[in-house]
Amino acid sequence: MKEKILRMIKYAYTNVPLYEKKNIDITSIKDIKDVPVIRKEEIMVDWEEGISSNYLMKYLQGKLMSSWTSGSTGKCLRVLWTKEQYNQSLLPLWILRHRFYDIKPTDKFCYFYNTPNVEHRKKGNVFYEIIENSMGFYKNNLSEEVICNIIDMIKEYSPRWLMLQPSTAVLIGRTMEKLEISLSSVEYIELSGEMLFEETRNYLKKIFGCTIANQYGCNELNSIAYECPEGNLHCLESNVYVEVVKKEKRIENKEEGELCLTTLNNETMPLVRYAIGDSGLLRYHHSCNCGLKSPILELTSGRISTYIQHEDGTLLSPYIFIHAVHSIIEMLGDVIIQFRVIQKEYQKFEVIFVILDEVYENLEEISAHIEEIFLNSIDEKRLKNSKYIFLYTNHVFADDKTGKCTYFEMMV
Ligand SMILES: [Zn+2]
Repeated sequence: MKEKILRMIKYAYTNVPLYEKKNIDITSIKDIKDVPVIRKEEIMVDWEEGISSNYLMKYLQGKLMSSWTSGSTGKCLRVLWTKEQYNQSLLPLWILRHRFYDIKPTDKFCYFYNTPNVEHRKKGNVFYEIIENSMGFYKNNLSEEVICNIIDMIKEYSPRWLMLQPSTAVLIGRTMEKLEISLSSVEYIELSGEMLFEETRNYLKKIFGCTIANQYGCNELNSIAYECPEGNLHCLESNVYVEVVKKEKRIENKEEGELCLTTLNNETMPLVRYAIGDSGLLRYHHSCNCGLKSPILELTSGRISTYIQHEDGTLLSPYIFIHAVHSIIEMLGDVIIQFRVIQKEYQKFEVIFVILDEVYENLEEISAHIEEIFLNSIDEKRLKNSKYIFLYTNHVFADDKTGKCTYFEMMV
C-alpha cells in the first residue's frame, strides 16, 4: 500500500510539470508527508501543467477522457484520464456494490447528469440518454411536470437501482408522495455528490422503501469511500489514499480536518495530496462487522443541497447554473475559474464570475459572449424570464468556514 502511494508520488514529481516545478529531490521522498498539499486554485493557474508528459501526445490528439469537477463549490476544474485508468478507479466500488448489495455491472440502473455523455434524446419535455444498461436523465430543469414524466419513464424502464444526489432524490420523492406512486423495481439507491443527512436518508427510505447506501466521491478522483451495510463509510484504498490535514499537517486519528486525497489510478493527470475542501475525520482502528479493515470516514461538512425557489412554490435544482457555466467553458475555453449565483428575489439573480486575469483585462470583449451563452443555455422558461445581474472579479472566493461554500445561495 505504502509502496503504491510512493510510486505514484515519485511518478507525479518526475513527469508532471505542476509538481516538477516544486523542485523536490525525489530521492528524499520517504513518506507522503514529505510532499506538499496542493489545492484546486493552484492547478487552475495553468491547468495543462497538471498533465503528465507521458500523456501529452494523447491529450493533443484528443484521445483522453475528461471529467469535470461537479462545480459544487463553484470552482471548475477538468481532469483527464485514459479509459483504462478511469475504469480501474471504479473497480473497488463495483466489487463492494456486488459484495454488499448484490449489484452487478449488468443490472439496469438510472442516474442523473449535468453534461450529456452522448448526444441526448428527447421525450416530451424530458431530455435523457441511454448508455448500455443505464438510462440517464438531464438534471437541468427538473420542474414538477418534468419529474412526473421522468418517474413514468423510470417505471417503464424498470431499473434495479438508482444512482443520484440526495437533493434530486428528495425532489423525486416529493412528487412520488404527492401522486401516491412507487417505483417497485428499484431495490437499491446509491446516493452521492452531496452531504447526506440522517433526516434525508430516513425520508428517502420511507418513500422508496429500499436499501440506501451513501457513496462519497468526486469527479476528479471518482469514488473515495463507500457505505457498508453497517452504515460506515469505508475508504476505497485501492483507488484513493485519504488523509486528514490541518494547516497542511497530517492528523493521525479521529480528529477533524480537511480531506486530502491522492489518486492511485490516474497517471494521466495525477492529483497528489489534493485538498478537496470538504472536511471530516478518519477512524483507523475499528472492528466493523462488515469485515473491511480500511479506515472509516466521517464527513463533517461537505456539499449541501440548495434549491432555486419559484413563486408557485416549486423548487428547482440549481444544477441548471452549473450546466450554463459548463456551456461557457465548452465554447470559450477555461475562462471561468469559479462562479456563484445568488437568488435575490423570485425573479432576480446575481451571477458572479471569477475569471482569469488575462480575461479580466479584456472584460468588455468577452463579457457579452459569456452572458449570451449563459442565458441561452437556461432552458427552463421560468428562469429564462428572470432578471440576471452579472458581476465579474479576478479574486477567487475564500472558502466559507461554515462549510456552506456552494456555488448557489438560496433566497432567504
Ligand atoms: Zn463496515
